[in-house]
Amino acid sequence: MEPYTIIKSIVMLVALTGAFSFFFIQVRRLYRLMMAVEGTTEFKVDQVGRRITVLITDVLGQSNVLRKRMPGIAHAMIFFGFLAVQPHSLELMLKGVCPAFDVGHWFPGFYGGYLFIADILATFVLLGFAYAIYRRTILRPRYLTLGADANLIILFTCLIIITFQCINMFQTLLPLSPGAYDYRGIFPVSGLLVSLFGLETMSSQQIFAGYEISYWIHMATILGFMVYIPGSKHLHLLAAAPNVFLKPLEREKAIVTTDLENEELETFGLGKISELNWKNVLNLYACTECGRCEEQCPAAITDKPLSPKKLVHDLKVDLLDHSEAILGGNLDQVQSIVRENSPITGDVLWSCVTCRACEDICPVNIEHLDFIVEARKHQVLMEASFPPELQETFTNLENQGNPWGFDPDSRADWSKGMDVPLMSDNPEAELLWFVGCAGSFDDRGKKISEAMARVLHRAGVNFAILGPEEACNGDMARRTGNEYLAQTLIQQNVEVLNGYKPKKILTGCPHCFNIIKNEYPRFGASFPVVSHADFLFDLHQQGRLQTNGNSLGTLTFHDSCYLGRWNGIVQSPRDLLRAMNNGQLTEMQRIREKGFCCGAGGGGMFMEETLGKRINVERAEEVMGTGAATVAAACPFCATMLSDGLMDKESNIAVKDIAEIVDAATA
Ligand code: SF4
Ligand code: SF4
Repeated sequence: MEPYTIIKSIVMLVALTGAFSFFFIQVRRLYRLMMAVEGTTEFKVDQVGRRITVLITDVLGQSNVLRKRMPGIAHAMIFFGFLAVQPHSLELMLKGVCPAFDVGHWFPGFYGGYLFIADILATFVLLGFAYAIYRRTILRPRYLTLGADANLIILFTCLIIITFQCINMFQTLLPLSPGAYDYRGIFPVSGLLVSLFGLETMSSQQIFAGYEISYWIHMATILGFMVYIPGSKHLHLLAAAPNVFLKPLEREKAIVTTDLENEELETFGLGKISELNWKNVLNLYACTECGRCEEQCPAAITDKPLSPKKLVHDLKVDLLDHSEAILGGNLDQVQSIVRENSPITGDVLWSCVTCRACEDICPVNIEHLDFIVEARKHQVLMEASFPPELQETFTNLENQGNPWGFDPDSRADWSKGMDVPLMSDNPEAELLWFVGCAGSFDDRGKKISEAMARVLHRAGVNFAILGPEEACNGDMARRTGNEYLAQTLIQQNVEVLNGYKPKKILTGCPHCFNIIKNEYPRFGASFPVVSHADFLFDLHQQGRLQTNGNSLGTLTFHDSCYLGRWNGIVQSPRDLLRAMNNGQLTEMQRIREKGFCCGAGGGGMFMEETLGKRINVERAEEVMGTGAATVAAACPFCATMLSDGLMDKESNIAVKDIAEIVDAATA
């Protein structure tokens, strides 16, 4: 063997051993950190077959990233190209240590086919990065941060690909040793470049030098990249696929339930980073910092201090900063998440409207709300720290079972003279209508309830309400972190519902719908629940509601987050409105699962919105952009927020609930 070949073997062996060892030590440390946090989760790895399918479609098929067309295509080009290069790079590493290692010699047909494809896909990586650089430097969307880390990764990857193709070029020119694989004519792109640059005229020493220089740069970059990944933002290259594999498989998602009776629990919610559970940590590792969540977040869009992307990043930094203490079991040294000079402030946590736009758009299925609501829970239950205006709301919920403090015995007063039966008088009703606090007490909500009652009578529905037996559904208290109060309210309703065992529950409020359908089963009440959007559309389909043919003029529809994004009910309200308005419906820009919050969710309805632009004003401007005369909502809180936003803009666009529209169209 040539002395150079021997030296090369030794250097490669040392480099590979060092780089792989360092890589595995780092990965092991990250894994140990993930398992050392003290939070627990009920999550179980179930439906493995379905999860594998998800992995194939979402990661290998790139379906999540492709939801955003151009950046998605660029990402897919980089992903597939980079993946395709790896086997050849690995082979070159092994060949560096042991020159006799020759896959081409053993499997010539398969190997040739692979190299042909890898050579083309490698070029795609460069095209993908060209677009990424154009996007970062020319388009510059505000949610994409231009850190040194990102630039370094681009540099690393481009170097890997360029040197990969240089190796390919020189491989076609190197003199053939007897029995070795013949690379000539294998590489479509690199072969073309050889002719283009006229490399055939190079001397054999120049070709050898060109190959070796390309080889060493390629190896240094690829091994450097491997060592760099676990400590960089590109940790997602390792964590994204497992995180997608473990994602929630159903759309519905409940807030984490805290066992308040558990005497072993010393604290509630998320106060310190060490209180995360392993799945939360995997979420933090998986973030690609793509900024899609921030682009959709109503809080970030309206210049509040919350950016879901930054929150995930800040939590990850906090975790890594405390890794020594956590791994050493010194949890008393871990500081609170919300502390002096922490980027995670009360304003960050209380800016969230729990719309879930971030989770829905995240290509790697990060569950931001688990962090936000759990952190709120800790602030409320352990620190008694929350926006002061919530105090009165909490007191009213606690004492009167509604956020405004009305006499609970007057809950059914809105229905006086409307022949609306109580469940206590009509326990066999085919439908229990859970009216909700807004529909029972709020002036705007009461009008919607009256319209709904007229429609139900008109369609001949045998229904009844709970009246004074109904309490607030608990949604507002849960999402503002007052889990104790929420569970008290939920238990109260659960007992009443279990007493009647309703055949079906109808809701006119998406917050009632979501919590009764998705969260009450965890507290022992499991009944079929239907939203008024679905129910009214069904009544129309069954021919139980005849339209009068009057046009309502130009109409647009605002998706409630808790109906659309949380529960996927986006089509029935549209079909219903079209049926009521002679087929006419104009759409806003942000609709369906990508709808834009009205600002009321997550307790927003009961908090002062003093930072940034008002979310309802942002939405009102979008409504006005449609030129519609009326905007329809399917939530009493949305109706109020939209009315306020439009009033702020001095617009005379009417705001109607879908029940009011059906009432007017079928009178
Ligand atoms: S949380 Fe998800 S959407 Fe947001 S930056 Fe990270 S990967 Fe992108
Ligand atoms: S739930 Fe909505 S408001 Fe909260 S961080 Fe996510 S996108 Fe922003």
